[in-house]
Amino acid sequence: MNKAALVLLALLTAPLPLFAATVVVDPGHGGNRPGADLGDGREKEFVLEAARRLAGLLQGRHQVVLTREEDYFMGPADRAGLANNLKADLFLSIHAAPRGLPGPARAFVWRWDAASTRRPAAEHAAAPTPWQALQAAHAAESARLAQVAALELGRAFPDTPVHAGGLPLTVLEGADMPALLVEIPQPVPGGQDREAVLSAAAAALARAVERFLAETPVTAGP
Ligand SMILES: [Zn+2]
Repeated sequence: MNKAALVLLALLTAPLPLFAATVVVDPGHGGNRPGADLGDGREKEFVLEAARRLAGLLQGRHQVVLTREEDYFMGPADRAGLANNLKADLFLSIHAAPRGLPGPARAFVWRWDAASTRRPAAEHAAAPTPWQALQAAHAAESARLAQVAALELGRAFPDTPVHAGGLPLTVLEGADMPALLVEIPQPVPGGQDREAVLSAAAAALARAVERFLAETPVTAGP
């Protein structure tokens, strides 16, 4: 066999990363923005752990990239920008839902909605980016993604109210792909412990991502 044939054979037999989709998972907060105090830790640690678990469940079939792997802060526009640079097929930002005090755990599923009369907390409504409203082109897909995410979270946490709605969130508005911000339940006294909540939330979000992608043709990569 000549050299050219050998090279060709090597190319053909090399394992190719045939990922079905590129998914960007965004653990909220980080660094000097710790997020909510969850009692046994801060939101930034809880959501990073949830994001790692979700990535672990999707990895292999999909290319999964976390916006932050460690404890540092990224601005909301940079998080969406990272997903845009990767030409991701899906962007999922993860936060922990505030509890009703006192009250049960809750969950929220937010899609971008500029017309919403609700306003996000100041931290999540930074100055508009030059590429704001890219998300508007993906409104229908993001709404469907919100629907499956709310459904799967509802199944995973039958005792937890799951609210789905729209908010003008900076982290979503510049994302040029279906995008969602999910506030997963936080552990509450007398309910599931941290471990159980994390694994149930990651599994629910992985199912939502798979269901969404199965119904959405993924465009060929570059
Ligand atoms: Zn948060």
